[in-house]
Amino acid sequence: MTETDVAVIGGGPGGLSAALFTAKNGLGTTVFDTDDTGVYAAKLRNYLGIEEMSGNEFIHTARQQVDGHGATRKQDEAVKDVEQVDEGFRVTTDGDDGDGDGEYHATYVVLATGYPCELAKELGCDVGRLDTVEIDADSETTVANAYAVGEATRVQKIQVAISVGQGATAAIDILSAEYNEPFHDYDKSLHGGYG
Ligand SMILES: Cc1cc2nc3c(=O)[nH]c(=O)nc-3n(C[C@H](O)[C@H](O)[C@H](O)COP(=O)(O)OP(=O)(O)OC[C@H]3O[C@@H](n4cnc5c(N)ncnc54)[C@H](O)[C@@H]3O)c2cc1C
Repeated sequence: MTETDVAVIGGGPGGLSAALFTAKNGLGTTVFDTDDTGVYAAKLRNYLGIEEMSGNEFIHTARQQVDGHGATRKQDEAVKDVEQVDEGFRVTTDGDDGDGDGEYHATYVVLATGYPCELAKELGCDVGRLDTVEIDADSETTVANAYAVGEATRVQKIQVAISVGQGATAAIDILSAEYNEPFHDYDKSLHGGYG
């Protein structure tokens, strides 16, 4: 069994956003992804700060950014099961975690699988009328320390920017819990000011 602070299940925009914040701020972060994000079909022209970018380039750049901050990315490794255990979660995959059993222990999980999220139901998270995962304002599900972001929580009215925002929301709540105070990931510019 391999230990990680945060297991992120799904490496689309929502999952990679959560992983960026948690890895950047010192938490062991493992991302599992089966590489089936809808972004590959998109030409992004509605993401603030980016004039235009293909979905392929967006995911490629996001992965590089997440890798650069030290997250472990388990590409093409599917999560088969998530269950609550003492002080966290056991995540079982179809891969090999290094000691051969495909089992990970995480203090937090972020469900970022897209829609539908069967893992959330199996974990015991409440789901809504459209089978979307119920979350609070911090993107936490009804199971403590289990978060859900992106299409898993809103199959309708969803955009890349919303998934990315929810990923950040979940990560900031996890970091606040870990560091016992409201957490801000603020980097200062050396050339501050306007213009
Ligand atoms: C044709 C098309 C065009 C679009 N154009 C735009 C656009 O122009 N602008 C815009 O903002 N949005 C666009 N979208 C919507 C955008 O793609 C979605 O809003 C976005 O991908 C949702 O991100 P997500 O991270 O929530 O989920 P997803 O992108 O669905 O990512 C989920 C990831 O989790 C993985 N996964 C699932 N289950 C498991 C498991 N058990 N174990 C491991 N990994 C798992 C999947 O393989 C996938 O990689 C478009 C969508 C489509 C289909």
